[in-house]
Amino acid sequence: MEGCIFCKIVNGEIPSNKLYEDDKVYAFYDINPEAPTHFLVIPKDHIESANALNEKNVDIISHIFMVINKLVVDLGISDKGYRIVNNCGEDGGQTVNHLHFHVLGGRSLQWPPG
Ligand code: 5GP
Ligand code: ZN
Repeated sequence: MEGCIFCKIVNGEIPSNKLYEDDKVYAFYDINPEAPTHFLVIPKDHIESANALNEKNVDIISHIFMVINKLVVDLGISDKGYRIVNNCGEDGGQTVNHLHFHVLGGRSLQWPPG
């Protein structure tokens, strides 16, 4: 989608520190990490937010979780644990309107969020 920074990352217009890519998803390190390991996994197709999921596009979610499953093992955080976060909409703290899952690990994380 035009003007979307994550679409630009997917198509290489904006550089990123890529961790993984296949025909459906793209994973890259967050530019402003909140934990020793902090990466994002996004669908290549532009989906605005969790609100825009539907019967047709929801299968991407299971694929994203399988990719996360592989990456946390590769990065060595699977045993100690990690957090998967999706911020949706204004109150959810979403700042980029292209569906993305944060994966945070490498330190003990607080709960609940602010
Ligand atoms: P949100 O607040 O929408 O859940 O998360 C957006 C995330 O995208 C933030 O953690 C922010 O640091 C990250 N981000 C924003 N712009 C860029 C960028 O150009 N490159 C990368 N790698 N991360 C970005
Ligand atoms: Zn997009």
